[in-house]
Amino acid sequence: MEQQILDIYRKELQALEEKSNRRQLPEVTHCEREVIRQGNRMLNLSSNDYLGLATDIALRKTFLETLTPETFFPSASSSRLLTGNFPAYTALEDTLCRLFGSEAALVFNSGYHMNTGILPAVCHAKTLILADKLVHASLIDGIRLSSAQYIRYKHNNYEHLASLLHKNQSDYERIIIVTESIFSMDGDEADLRRLVELKRQYPHVLLYVDEAHAIGVRGEKGLGLAEEQGCIEEIDFLTGTFGKALASVGGYIICKPVIREYLINKMRTLIFTTALPPVNLMWSRYILEQLGAMKEKRDHLQAISRYLKESLIGKGYACPSTSHILPVMIGDSRATVRKAEEMQRKGFYLLPVRPPTVPEGTSRIRLSLTAAIREEEVEQLVRLL
Ligand SMILES: *Cc1c(COP(=O)(O)O)cnc(C)c1O
Repeated sequence: MEQQILDIYRKELQALEEKSNRRQLPEVTHCEREVIRQGNRMLNLSSNDYLGLATDIALRKTFLETLTPETFFPSASSSRLLTGNFPAYTALEDTLCRLFGSEAALVFNSGYHMNTGILPAVCHAKTLILADKLVHASLIDGIRLSSAQYIRYKHNNYEHLASLLHKNQSDYERIIIVTESIFSMDGDEADLRRLVELKRQYPHVLLYVDEAHAIGVRGEKGLGLAEEQGCIEEIDFLTGTFGKALASVGGYIICKPVIREYLINKMRTLIFTTALPPVNLMWSRYILEQLGAMKEKRDHLQAISRYLKESLIGKGYACPSTSHILPVMIGDSRATVRKAEEMQRKGFYLLPVRPPTVPEGTSRIRLSLTAAIREEEVEQLVRLL
């Protein structure tokens, strides 16, 4: 019996293998901007360390100097609702409030905890979620865990969204529009101001924006696309992760105090998990405090991103991106894997992205640039692609 079940799993893995969609955990070691895999040293172009902060040794050194064995807590040893709510949480949330000019902020264990926890907490059976077709898996999981009804609108298609709002508005007590700001796979952007305008037409519509790929990278102060588009205050659930450009771990929401209080009481992924280690919270705050001064890094990242996009289009690739995330669209999974391996042999660590992460037939190589990458390296990459 047991053998039979295991055989079924084996067969399913085999089927994935045959479609070149089987995944493995790559063994890599890190050496500043490079990764080393099976003895092959490659420039890392698959990292979410968008500002190059995770590879900045000097930054780590100055942070470590602020710690002593007495102030270094590697674990919170408990949920935030019990004994895990260390002063480092308050300090970090105060810093978030000050930077965003908001009244309340709340920190979560990860972006995944955040997205799988907020929607189930704030939705009921008379809630409708209208989510962009391309939102991240963590948001999809949050939607599925909630008791809300949901419809996915065509990617960045606000006429479609407007018609869904119009058609459904009288059937629900609450409607929540859910989008990313920069999309993780296509690297294109939402028009947040337009979404705010749409939301304002109805008193019972709220807006949820995930800035996972824009926090740190966009806006004068690095606070994301909502800062750039001047609509921080109009977004009801303004969320992001510390795990990407901010080179740390955790997620956050910028919101009204009542939403914060409500989440503390209702959000299962906040309540039933051990709080983040204080040392990570301190590191997150340390990075946040310096974010405003990192404009040069943001400008450089934008410059090389623009250059790469133009070059990709010049080579005949379709490139929907308007950011530092640049897909090289190939289509077939096998061809995508082959191309990625070829580029790895040439010293660039690029990875294939395949179904189910992206729709069938849209396999691609996902290039993510970081501020640590030099212009001449992008030029060389383009030559070899
Ligand atoms: C990476 C990502 C997350 C998850 O954040 P983690 O902190 O890595 O758990 C959530 N949303 C989007 C859009 C992401 O790209």
